[in-house]
Amino acid sequence: MKKVLKNVSFVILVLKMCFIFGQETSAQKRIVIDVGHGGKDAGAIGVNGIQEKDVVMDIANAILKLNNDLVKPLDIYLTRYSDSLISLSDRTKLTKVLKADLFLSLHCVNLQLKVD
Ligand SMILES: [Zn+2]
Repeated sequence: MKKVLKNVSFVILVLKMCFIFGQETSAQKRIVIDVGHGGKDAGAIGVNGIQEKDVVMDIANAILKLNNDLVKPLDIYLTRYSDSLISLSDRTKLTKVLKADLFLSLHCVNLQLKVD
C-alpha cells in the first residue's frame, strides 16, 4: 500500500508540474481522470485474480483523497465513481462538457501484485 501511495503522490506531482509549466497559472484548471474499464469490462487480470478496473478505481480514490488534503485542491473529476462501464464516447463527451484542461486515463498493464 505504501508503494501505491508513493505512485499516487507522483501522479499528483506530475499533474501540478503540467500546470506549472503551462501558460496560465492563475486560473483554476480542471482535470478529468478517466478511471479505465469498469462494470463487465475488467481490463487486465493479474495474479490472484486482481482486476485492472479495481486497481485503477483504488488509485483514483487515493488521488481524490490526497487532493482533498491539499491547501489548494485541484479541480478533479472522475469519469466513473463506481464499478460501472462508461462508453468511450461518453467519457469523451463528459470531458468536453466539463471543458477539462487535462485528461488523464488510468490503466495498469502489469498486475503482478501479491495481495495478502
Ligand atoms: Zn486498461
